[in-house]
Amino acid sequence: MNRFAKLDHQYVWHPFTQMRDWLRTEPIVIASGRGAWLKDVHGKKYLDANSSIWTNLHGHGHPKINAAIGRQLKRIAHSSALGFANEPASALAEQLVQAAQVGLRKSHSPGRKQRTLAPKDRLAKVFFSDDGSTALEVALKLAYEYTRRARGPKTKPKFLSLTGAYHGDTIGAVSLGHIDLFHQSFGGMLFKSDQVMAPYCYRCPFNHAKPEREDARKYRKCQWECTGLVAKAFAAQKRRGNPYAAFVYEPLMQGAAGMIPQPSGWLEQVADLARAHGALLIADEVMTGFGRTGLTCHVKDEAIRAAVKEPAQAKLFASTRTGIQSDFLCVAKGLTGGYLPMAATLTTQRVFDAFLGKYEEFKTFFHGHSFTGNQLGAAAGLASMEILQSAGSVRARARLQSGLQQELKSLWALPRVGDIRQVGLVAGIELVKNWQTREPYALHERAGIRVCEAMARRGVLTRSIGSVIVLMPPYCTTAKEVKRMVGGLGEAIGEVLG
Ligand code: PMP
Repeated sequence: MNRFAKLDHQYVWHPFTQMRDWLRTEPIVIASGRGAWLKDVHGKKYLDANSSIWTNLHGHGHPKINAAIGRQLKRIAHSSALGFANEPASALAEQLVQAAQVGLRKSHSPGRKQRTLAPKDRLAKVFFSDDGSTALEVALKLAYEYTRRARGPKTKPKFLSLTGAYHGDTIGAVSLGHIDLFHQSFGGMLFKSDQVMAPYCYRCPFNHAKPEREDARKYRKCQWECTGLVAKAFAAQKRRGNPYAAFVYEPLMQGAAGMIPQPSGWLEQVADLARAHGALLIADEVMTGFGRTGLTCHVKDEAIRAAVKEPAQAKLFASTRTGIQSDFLCVAKGLTGGYLPMAATLTTQRVFDAFLGKYEEFKTFFHGHSFTGNQLGAAAGLASMEILQSAGSVRARARLQSGLQQELKSLWALPRVGDIRQVGLVAGIELVKNWQTREPYALHERAGIRVCEAMARRGVLTRSIGSVIVLMPPYCTTAKEVKRMVGGLGEAIGEVLG
C-alpha cells in the first residue's frame, strides 16, 4: 500500500464516511490536479465529476488563480479582520455586492407586483467566514438578532426551511436541516426549526402522473399543492402569534437533499408568501452560487451572445437568475474557485443598520472567526470572479450546460434510471429498481456507492447521495470529457445494477 494511504488508514478520520468500510481497501490518494482531471499517487488519472465536492469552478491548477494566490503570498498570507481591513477582502466584498445586484432592479412583492427595491433592501454588506456552515450560522444569528430588535426582545424568532434541507454541520446549520439520517442523532443539541414540503416532483405524493422518460418537472400533474402547504405553514405560524422570522432555502435546486430541482415558478411563489408574512429570506447559495445553476438560455440564444458581449452582466447566482432578492445570501465552496476555504454572508443595509449604535449600547454583532477575510482566499476569489465574468467562461458554461444535457439523454435507455434532473451545470441521476414503479433502492443496498466505485474504476470520480448520482463537472470540462463522464456512469450502472 502507498505510504500516504497507510498513514491515512492509521491517522485520518474522513467526513461522512463509515470508517470500517474505508479501512478495508486502499484509498485513492490524490497527488495533483489539472483542469477537470485528478491524478493519484500511482499516476492513474480521474475525471473530477463532482468538482471536488462541488467546490471547483474553473478546473484545477488554473494559472490565473494560482498566480493570484502566489502574488498575494509574496505580500502576506493572513492578517486579522478583527481590527484591520485588508486589500483583497475589501475588493472581493465590492465584487460580490455588485454581482448580487445583476438582474435585481426589481423585487418580488406580495401579489407579484414588481416594485423597485428600496436602497436599504439591497444586498450591500459582506460578512466573511470560513465555509458553508459558518456562512449559514452568520445569516442565522443576524436574522435572529435583527428580528428580536425589530419585534421586541421577548420575541423568540422561528425559522422555516424545506424537507430534506441541508445547510451545514455546525449546530445552528444542523438545526435548520431536515435530513433525519444526518441530524437525528444530534436532536438533543439542536434548536427546533419547522420544515415544509420541498417540491420533489419525482416522488411527490401530489404528482399523479405516471413516470415518463423525462425530468419529472416536465410531466408532473398537480395543483401546486406544495406551495399551498407553504402558504398554510406561514398562515398557521402567524395564527400562533409569532410569524416566522425567516425562510431558509436553496434556490432552484436543493443539493444534499438529493439534487432536487424546483419546478419553474415555485421559488417566485414561496418568496412572495414569505415576504407577505414578513419573513426574511435566507438564500443558501453554497452549492448553487457562482454560475453553477447555469444560464437561463440556450447556447445559441441571443441572451448568451449578450452575456458574452457584456460578461460582467452574466447572472452568477440562482437568486439573480430568478430575480429574487434575499435578505441574506450565503456563499462558500466556489467563492475562491474552490481553491481555499472561505465563505461570505451578504446582507442588506437595513439589517446592517440595526446593528449600529453607540459602543455602550452593545449592538455589535458579536461573531467572528480567526481567518475571517483571509487574504489568500480573497485573492483567489478575486481571480475567480474575473474568470467568471470573462466572455470565455460564459461561453464555456453555456457549452457545458448544453453538452451535459445532450449526453444525459443517453441514460434514459437504462431501466435503472428513474429520474434525470439537470439545473444548469449540475445533474442528479436517481437510480431505482424499476423505473415504471419508481421502486427505490434501500439505503443498505448501497446502490449509489457501488455505482460510484464502478465509475472510479473507469476513471471518473463522484459521490452519490443515497441512490442519486451527482454529476457536477468543473466549467472547463470539454465535450469529450463530459461524454466520458456520462459514459462511465452508464457503464457503471449496467455493471452494478444490470
Ligand atoms: N449549504 C449547502 C447548500 C451545502 O451544499 C453545503 C455543503 N455541501 C453547506 C451548506 C455546508 O458547507 P460546508 O461543507 O462548506 O460547511
